[in-house]
Order: sequence, then C-alpha cells, then structure tokens
Amino acid sequence: MTRKLSEFSARREKLFAHMRENKLDAAIVSSPINVRYLTGFTGSNSLLLTSPGLTILYTDPRYATQVRAEADAPRKQVVRGPLLPALVASLEKTRFRDVVFEGSHLTFDTFDALSSAVPKRAQLSPLGPILEQLRSIKSPSEIDAIRASVQLNSRAFDAALRRFRPAMTERDLAAELDHQMRLLGAEHPAFDTIVATGPHGAYPHAHPENRSIKSNALLLIDMGAQAEGYASDMTRMAFPGKPSATVRSRYKAVLEAQLAAIDAVKHGVPAAKVDRAARAVLRRHGLDKRFIHSTGHGLGLEIHEMPRIGKKADQPLEAGMAITIEPGIYIEGWGGIRIEDTVLVTAAGSEVLTPTPKELLVL
Ligand code: ZN
Ligand code: ZN
Repeated sequence: MTRKLSEFSARREKLFAHMRENKLDAAIVSSPINVRYLTGFTGSNSLLLTSPGLTILYTDPRYATQVRAEADAPRKQVVRGPLLPALVASLEKTRFRDVVFEGSHLTFDTFDALSSAVPKRAQLSPLGPILEQLRSIKSPSEIDAIRASVQLNSRAFDAALRRFRPAMTERDLAAELDHQMRLLGAEHPAFDTIVATGPHGAYPHAHPENRSIKSNALLLIDMGAQAEGYASDMTRMAFPGKPSATVRSRYKAVLEAQLAAIDAVKHGVPAAKVDRAARAVLRRHGLDKRFIHSTGHGLGLEIHEMPRIGKKADQPLEAGMAITIEPGIYIEGWGGIRIEDTVLVTAAGSEVLTPTPKELLVL
C-alpha cells in the first residue's frame, strides 16, 4: 500500500513542478480519470483542488467509505449537494491568485458557475494537456497493469474462439468475447468489442450486428479489456473456410506494414515516422489509399490517450509510452483487414506486449 501511496503523490509532484515553472498557484481537476490518476479515487463524482501546500478531494456521501479506503489525498471532504461550492469555499480561505482548471473537461455551465464564484483576486486559466502528457509515460506499476490487461485480453480471445461455431452471429461472438474477458477478471471491455464479417469489415468501427458469420469471408475481431483500471487493445483476423490468394496476399501486405511500423518504434523517434513506415509498405502493395486512419494511439487508464501515431504527429516517442500499432485496409463491398498489437516503447526499441500469434487464423 505504501508503494502505491507514494506513486500518487509522485504524480502530483510532477504536476506541481509544471505549476511552479508556470507560476500557477492551484489546479482544479474535474475529469474523473485525471482525479483517479492523481489520487487513486475511482468514484464517478469528484473534484480535486491541488497545490503544493493544499490538496483536497471532494466527493458526495455515496462515496464516503470508498474515498476513505482508496484515495490518496492529504484531505478528503464528503459534501452533501454540489461539490463546486465546497471547493470555492476552500479557495476563499487561501491567497491563491493563478488558478488553473481543465479546459477540455469542464462544461461551460461549471466554468460559468466557477468564474462567478471564485474570489475576485483569483485569475482562472486553462491548465492545458499537462496531465495527459504526464499520463502518456507509464510508471513500472502501470506497465505491469497494462501487461496484465493485454494478457487477459489474449486469453479471452483464445477461450472465445475455441467456442466458435459456424452458426454464430457477430453479436454472439462479441458476447462470448466479453463474457470470457469478465470471467478472466476484467472490469469490463475497454470499448465496444468489434466483430465484423465479410464486407462489414470495411467499416473500421463496425458494431456487431445480428448477422451470421460468413464462411469463406474475413472475420475482423477488435477487442480490449479494462483490468485494474488499465486498457488493452488488439485486432486479429480470422477466416472460416479457405482463404483465397487475394485474401492471403492482402493479409501479408498489412502484416508487413504492421511489422515495419513496430520496427520503427523507438525512444526519440517522431510518432509520424512510425506512421510513415506502415504507409510506405502499403504503398508498395498499392494499398495505401485503403489505409484511412492513423497507425495507432496511446492507451492506459483510457483506451485512447496521448500520443497519437499519425501522419502529422511530430511528437517524439518516449520510453515508457504504451501505444497500439494497427494499420488496416478497408475495401467497400469486400471487407477489411487490420492487425493490432499493444506495444511498449523502450530506450532500445519496443516490446510487443500482445502474445497472440499474428497469422491469419483459419477456423
Ligand atoms: Zn483496437
Ligand atoms: Zn486501437
């Protein structure tokens, strides 16, 4: 427990370092994910006022027991009714002048209420994406959690595919995948599981429908678990029947693109270079126009986090980032092929965390 406690205060210290550099007195954190990142509190209703000398976590009576048990914050305040007035009352007792809030997470109404209630001397300004940047570099215990989530996800994939029957619908298989995830200890799927058969696979974010999984057609499965708070993400392709030469050659092209992108991952390399590595391979195969999304994304407490691995992402990758590598091609009326792993950026290169083999799975 002590190790965990110090991890949360270490995260707050990093935020304080940024605040000192920018002469900011206090931060109001309102997104539940960032409150969780800074305190470990997982309740759905919270506000955090934090500064080097004063940190108070506010929640409502439904979470009174939970906040005592799990939150690492110097002060915790259980508030009846709206939390904002309690936070403003605390602010009034301080001499804080430059107060920042999460511009991309606070609703206009809350901002309005906040700006009319804060003491006159206080200047409100947006914090910017510093918490999201801090979150993009994972600590050793977060890497362990992501590794465990990835392994759980792959085990759920194996268990569900063992139960595959030709008469299944997309929804049946998606339900089986989700069921296996939960049985293996996931809190819930990290996102809506995608199962897409035949031409439906041409929709990168297909929702499983009530249609039977076709024989002699590609089957795309994109799934991730949320386990101990951390997400995993994997896409694999299966084929019930006998794949044609076209299916095999297109599959090989996407796999080659995915491997080239993984090869390009390394501390210090701009994310866009990884994206270009995948695109260059698909161009050689005449398929680059079919690759209609970015190569990957960070993941952690959320399924989509910083960094973005796209064409215009000039941000360098850093050791400790957990990202996905997921090039794909989408051909209307025919289907889609995507191969996705969860990958850890290291000083020397990368470590592919996903243990599931990448061959086209013939069912
Ligand atoms: Zn995915
Ligand atoms: Zn993904």
